[in-house]
Amino acid sequence: MSAQSFDLIVIGAGPGGYVAAIRAAQLGLNVACIEKEPELGGTCLRVGCIPSKALLVSSERFEEARSHLATHGIEVEGVKLNLDKMLARKDKVVKALTGGIKMLFKKNKVTRFEGHASFVSATELKVTSSKGEEQLSAPKILIATGSVPANLPGIEWDGDRIGGSTEALAYPEVPEHLIVIGAGVIGLELGSVWRRLGAKVTVLEYMDTAMPGMDADLSAEAVKIFKKQGVEFRFGTKVTGARVEGEGCVVECEGSEPIRCDRVLVSVGRKPNTEGLGLEAIGVELDRRGVVQVDEHFETNIKGVFAIGDVAPGPMLAHKAEEEGIACVEHMVTGYGHINYNTIPSVVYTHPEIASVGQSEQALKESGVPYKLGQFPYIANGRARAIGATDGFVKVLAHAETDRVLGVHIIGSNAGDLIAEAAVSMEFGASSEDVARSCHAHPTLAEILKEAALAVDGRAIHF
Ligand code: FAD
Ligand code: NAD
Repeated sequence: MSAQSFDLIVIGAGPGGYVAAIRAAQLGLNVACIEKEPELGGTCLRVGCIPSKALLVSSERFEEARSHLATHGIEVEGVKLNLDKMLARKDKVVKALTGGIKMLFKKNKVTRFEGHASFVSATELKVTSSKGEEQLSAPKILIATGSVPANLPGIEWDGDRIGGSTEALAYPEVPEHLIVIGAGVIGLELGSVWRRLGAKVTVLEYMDTAMPGMDADLSAEAVKIFKKQGVEFRFGTKVTGARVEGEGCVVECEGSEPIRCDRVLVSVGRKPNTEGLGLEAIGVELDRRGVVQVDEHFETNIKGVFAIGDVAPGPMLAHKAEEEGIACVEHMVTGYGHINYNTIPSVVYTHPEIASVGQSEQALKESGVPYKLGQFPYIANGRARAIGATDGFVKVLAHAETDRVLGVHIIGSNAGDLIAEAAVSMEFGASSEDVARSCHAHPTLAEILKEAALAVDGRAIHF
């Protein structure tokens, strides 16, 4: 069988792979993209960012209608949940977006192959599908195969009552009691969805706080707010097992009584997806956690074989994967392509949202960097009062001598949108005074960031 040849073959059509394929085609390369799922868009579009955000919005609307509209003088009666309709809306949002990638591939002349890719040599791939086998070849191959959920020993994952985020995006009924293992991003986002829809939610976390890597003031405030919303947390809890028993599940933890519940969401992190890719056949180097090792231009130890996104080192975020996809193929074609990892923001889409960019206060302390801190609460901002979103604060960390912004941490309404200004400011090397002296429209939540920047120098006006 003769192999079809391309300039570049991308394996995986998630936000890393599909963006890289489109950008490479824009730059004039003849590009193929192999995806094993029928729909394009990867974890992010199919079972990650998009469906979770659709359910977060719907469940927030439900909770608002049921519990919060009355404070605005809007009286609604008989608010009822139609879960089937809510899930169908989520599926429709996903379908529109995955279909959109198909059109973008057509528009940019990216050739799509459906099937499972595996390496035959450093320049040849085999694509296996129900239709048979195809051989493709290219001088450059980009691995963008993403990640899959991690599990814990002793947890009998049945893909129904005990499962991960994919199952939790489609529970057919609201669980009476949902146990979430892991107080990370997935646990808090999807735990919030099901709590709002009526479940009792208990979060079991091994560490002594939620989202352990985050700026400590943010995670402490988040736990306080989520507890007020009704989420139960058990920190310092080591889960030793979980199994289905009868109509429900039993979760066992070290040093305490087993807990009964009707569903378990395992959200203890994700691991790189390299299964069946044949990396061992060509000798691609992985670390002990299975992460594909790359140099500053995303090239592995095998010349011409590259890796980006969740399968490569760094945070597992869709926008990180996209930026890497672009930088990788731009470097291949133009010789330039760079990412500033310090300005990659992260956002947790709970209510309120939590967003960070740059260094946490703990990281600055540990590395001995002298810093100044400015903080401003949502409650002192006019727009936050008008919206009724008074929980939270913005925290700006700036270098004590140069005043350069080193980190911005936000918990509060629309934090995910506000963090963009902080990321752009840091990308341009702004000082806190630059942010403080920039005019921000009134009344907006963005004024909270301005006031926090003023507070770095003790000059906040409204607090
Ligand atoms: P993926 O999106 O995982 O795509 C990899 C693709 O490769 C998949 O489609 C897979 O089918 C395909 N593939 C794998 N192996 C092969 C093979 N051998 N042959 C052919 N195809 C193959 N990130 C955010 O930034 N914001 C969020 O709000 C957010 N929410 C999330 C919510 C959930 C529930 C989850 C699970 C994740 C979320 N993430 C979020 C993380 C985000 O989804 C990932 O960081 C992102 O999808 C990584 O992109 P990627 O292209 O590296 O991999
Ligand atoms: P995570 O790394 O965010 O959190 C995992 C949590 O599980 C941590 O708090 C960890 O301490 C805890 N844990 C680990 N082992 C445990 C054990 N034995 N018992 C109890 N707790 C344990 O992982 P996740 O929530 O599964 O999310 C996976 C990835 O998906 C993340 O890297 C994240 O970047 C990405 N994601 C991002 C978003 C977003 O950007 N909004 C949303 C969802 C997922």
